[in-house]
Amino acid sequence: MKFEKEKFLSAVNDILRADYAAEMETATKKELYNAVSKAAMALAFDDWKKEKKSDKKRCGYFSAEFLMGRSIYSNLLNLGILDGAKEALKSIGKDLGEFEEVEDAALGNGGLGRLAACYLESAASSSLPLDGYGIRYRYGLFRQTFEDGFQHEEGDDWLKWGDPWSVRIDRDAVVVEFADQKVLAVPYDMPVFGYKNGVVNTLRLWSSEPVDAFDFEAFNDMKGEHTAEENFHATKITDVLYPNDNTMAGKILRLRQQYFLVSASLQDILAKDKAKGRKLSELDKYHCFQLNDTHPVIAIPELLRLLKNEGFSFEEAFSICSKCFNFTNHTIMAEALEKWDALALSDLLPDVYQEIVHCQERMSGEGLDPTKFFIIRDNVIHMANLAIYVAAKVNGVAEIHTNILKTDTFKEWNELYPEKFVNITNGITPRRWLLLNNPEMAKEIDARIGTEWHTDLKKLKNLKPYINEMLPAFTRIKGENKAKLAAYIKEHEGVEIPSHFIFDVQVKRLHEYKRQLLNALSILYFYYGIKDGTIEDFPPTAFIFGAKAAPGYYMAKAVIKFINEIANLVNSDAEVAPYMRVVFVQNYNVSYAEKIVCAADVSEQISMAGMEASGTGNMKFMLNGTVTLGTLDGANVEICEEAGRENNYIFGATVEEVAQVKKFYCPREVLENTIGLKRALETLIDGTFEDESGMLQKLYESLVAGFSPDRYLVLYDFADYVRVKEELLRDYGTEEFNKKCLVNLASAGKFSADRSVKDYAKLIWKIK
Ligand SMILES: *Cc1c(COP(=O)(O)O)cnc(C)c1O
Repeated sequence: MKFEKEKFLSAVNDILRADYAAEMETATKKELYNAVSKAAMALAFDDWKKEKKSDKKRCGYFSAEFLMGRSIYSNLLNLGILDGAKEALKSIGKDLGEFEEVEDAALGNGGLGRLAACYLESAASSSLPLDGYGIRYRYGLFRQTFEDGFQHEEGDDWLKWGDPWSVRIDRDAVVVEFADQKVLAVPYDMPVFGYKNGVVNTLRLWSSEPVDAFDFEAFNDMKGEHTAEENFHATKITDVLYPNDNTMAGKILRLRQQYFLVSASLQDILAKDKAKGRKLSELDKYHCFQLNDTHPVIAIPELLRLLKNEGFSFEEAFSICSKCFNFTNHTIMAEALEKWDALALSDLLPDVYQEIVHCQERMSGEGLDPTKFFIIRDNVIHMANLAIYVAAKVNGVAEIHTNILKTDTFKEWNELYPEKFVNITNGITPRRWLLLNNPEMAKEIDARIGTEWHTDLKKLKNLKPYINEMLPAFTRIKGENKAKLAAYIKEHEGVEIPSHFIFDVQVKRLHEYKRQLLNALSILYFYYGIKDGTIEDFPPTAFIFGAKAAPGYYMAKAVIKFINEIANLVNSDAEVAPYMRVVFVQNYNVSYAEKIVCAADVSEQISMAGMEASGTGNMKFMLNGTVTLGTLDGANVEICEEAGRENNYIFGATVEEVAQVKKFYCPREVLENTIGLKRALETLIDGTFEDESGMLQKLYESLVAGFSPDRYLVLYDFADYVRVKEELLRDYGTEEFNKKCLVNLASAGKFSADRSVKDYAKLIWKIK
């Protein structure tokens, strides 16, 4: 896009006058942010209109979560006006960098929601007609602070700075009905700009409102209170994101949210097709739908219901659904696979429930063995089974994960429908996760191999002949990024990290399977080793954590408290000060991640093998030239395939070994036989740390006591972990080590979300 500075500034000024009665000189930062954003958006309006009107087959990406992060820089970059806008603002004495204060749009928990955001950007950048459909939560993922080492949650007011990147479309509002409630669904459309290609797709986020904004008649009839109550209920549906990651809440409000999202989206899509004169019997000619995990799977019976209302028979409607829907599985963990109580669902959505029953009956009618194949059993509805039965394709998100789905989790289903199961390994957008967050490194790459890699990440492999030559620039830029991160951490967390320290990073949601506890115990092991002299010349290392715990997840919160206690102990000990620091950053989110992944020396990806479906954090670090310290789990396996296992640091039990070990696992035995483990572990109970809450005691018990202690083999993998970790830390700084970093960067091509969405388009969506 051609950028005309004077025209742009004058557009900004017009918006400031009209919307805020202000001008460049008098506008507040917030007013300027809104005006700049709106002016940029207006530049792409014609492209957006063109895409909305186009007759191409489109895919709707249905997701309860979109973890978008901050939009302004990414949007300006993709519009090709980032430098222009920066210059323009500079010429009037303003700094584009000041918009870093703008809140992230955190309408998601973690990896699953961030994946949805990357896919939208990558699809637009690959000229694929993909639109997102989600919920406009009034409050996104909570803001996290620590008080005395404990996590505290505060409401996330992400609209504080306004929402200039959305447009409310009242004319597209639809009514969504529950047995006990009727609400209006109002869409807010966010443009999704492709990278410098003039494509603008849409993320449509639905907000719930009362059907009648204010019922004066009822008010005059002295039913004012009743009206207020109805208002309250209507807005409540989209008020807040459930802060759970990889667990299921089972709450009716959550079911309301899911149904609200899919009913509004499907009604909208069908109404537009009818208005265009399309035949609904040919729905699959114009649309397909990707169900991002089980959260939106209720779309299947909802479309059955809507099509029957249009006069189709159940079989006709079923046939249409089976061509339109596809399902992505994100986890094998039982506690995350959604199950709903049949009575609760039939009370809330009787007609939708009937369609689920019809699916079950159809299945039985096919003579399938009901002990293996069921949707409803013992009054529980299994949403994943419903999805697999109806969907055209079911995909896992990394090779190892899809293999586990096919041979274990959904073994019977795979034997029944082998053609349904496919793998699409996750990816990340290289625009946000290298061009934008690490611009100096991007420039060094451009200087050597040109800019093709911006949209064809495999081209990064052309860097390989330049690795030796690029090492000095690489280490210089990494060093600068580390200094910047250290300054940011000093300001926001109050912890000083010397930037020559190794930055060993574990950032991701807090979950027992991700094993932040294993990392924590290794730090104590090194700490006591340094203190008693059994570990000499320990390479100076800063252990950096970032993670939110679900508010109701006791063990996860206990791990946060434990690590904060370790940080206190280590950081106030002058004797170990030359060797280590520990910091747990508060409120880890997309914007924090952008600063962290370009400054890390070690990427900790240490889940118990088999548990992390893919991971995308691992890919962000790799793309920024960081070695992985990890298990053979999720996409780590493919990272090793691409970059070479010898260029990463792999440890621990494999999936096969995990299965073997679990048969007769005795953590107490491991504890007795592992040098240094006991001393580290017993800090949880020996008074090293105050434990008034009793949390640390419970953490200890989770590893050694009860019916199935140490479910995630923390103790089992400990010895191998500290061995490989120490080897890594001692390799650090050598030329050989730096080469490993750059080989990883140059091998990251496969993990572009551009590749992922193109795979989806070809194998599943059949769109161009
Ligand atoms: C990428 C990302 C994640 C996912 O990280 P994993 O290590 O794959 O779990 C979670 N949260 C944020 C903010 C991210 O940017």
